[in-house]
Amino acid sequence: ACATVRVDLGARSYDILIGSGLTAEAGAHLRRLAPGAACAIVTDEHVAALHLPTLEKALDLAKIRHSSVVVPPGEESKSFEVFARVCDAVIEARLERGDLIIALGGGVIGDLAGFAAAAVRRGMRFVQMPTTLLAEVDSSVGGKTGINSRHGKNLIGAFHQPSLVLADTDLLATLPSREFRAGYAEVVKYGLIGDAAFYDWLEANWRAVFAGGPERVHAIATSCAAKAAIVARDEHEQGDRALLNFGHTFGHAFERLVRYDGSRLVHGEGVAIGMACAMRFSARKGLCSGQDQVRAESHLREAGLPVRITDIPGWSASADDILEAMYQDKKVERGSLTFILARAIGDCFVAKNVAAADIHSFLQD
Ligand code: NAD
Ligand code: ZN
Repeated sequence: ACATVRVDLGARSYDILIGSGLTAEAGAHLRRLAPGAACAIVTDEHVAALHLPTLEKALDLAKIRHSSVVVPPGEESKSFEVFARVCDAVIEARLERGDLIIALGGGVIGDLAGFAAAAVRRGMRFVQMPTTLLAEVDSSVGGKTGINSRHGKNLIGAFHQPSLVLADTDLLATLPSREFRAGYAEVVKYGLIGDAAFYDWLEANWRAVFAGGPERVHAIATSCAAKAAIVARDEHEQGDRALLNFGHTFGHAFERLVRYDGSRLVHGEGVAIGMACAMRFSARKGLCSGQDQVRAESHLREAGLPVRITDIPGWSASADDILEAMYQDKKVERGSLTFILARAIGDCFVAKNVAAADIHSFLQD
């Protein structure tokens, strides 16, 4: 099974290929994209040990000159120090503007390598080769790149679209199951925000998606197509793209309150609880039916995701703490909270000016 999704951005349009065996075939795809180009592969230690040899062999066979830079795994690598290392490595590999940077890894590597591609020589071409479910359905598509500042996550960055995304579904076989589940929360998100039929399909087929095979390819391709359509309408997040933040205003606050301790809460788990909160809040406000709210929550729980803040180990934050953490999110302006709320499964909207007092009382129950 193999699928192609096109991201329509005029002269900067690009394809997302999704399927089995794409790493071993990468040479042919890269040669078609950029004949004669050299590559710098950016990856992390976990992924390098598991999958870098397959890619290197593919590039050797295609006679593509390549070098690689391997950084430590984890969010800490989205730092100025590691960013400088990656930029230096690309320059030292004598890569020119027409050459390619390849991001082989999860969202951390995609954001870091993508930002290096945006900055080195004022913009190099780059290819996303996502290796986590989260990266395959979300972070590798859409062109947001960046690193963290000591003041907060993703505060330094650029919009820089890749030239190609190769999502090899085989690579997910080595992903820890907790990371897979967390990525699945973002898949459910696409159903909840705008595609009721896809949501129904997920309820019926999620076990097959977890097991691999054609259902997994279908779920990833549908997710990418949903994100691609939103990005094509609103590349720089002036309107509709905010829908992708469904569950994230809550989720980011939870992540912040556990100090990004991944042993307690990883991003997709925060999003799962956040989406359950957004559905519950929408139902309480009479915006959506209680039936839809219960359905969404049950599905997330069934797939092994947390749906309540009390599901977070050692949770002790108050409603005040959560609200304060929301205000620190760069997407939230004090006084006028913006949330993505639901009218129904498959029908979310951007709600501006949600009263902080309403959120506060909701969080207290
Ligand atoms: P990650 O990149 O840290 O990967 C998670 C863990 O899995 C790491 O330890 C990694 O080494 C390991 N790993 C990766 N692929 C593997 C594989 N195939 N087999 C075994 N282990 C593997 O985390 P993530 O969840 O992929 O991405 C999170 C990051 O993505 C955050 O920094 C977030 O800000 C960013 N993000 C960006 C966007 C965007 O639009 N740019 C969107 C969502 C998230
Ligand atoms: Zn997310």
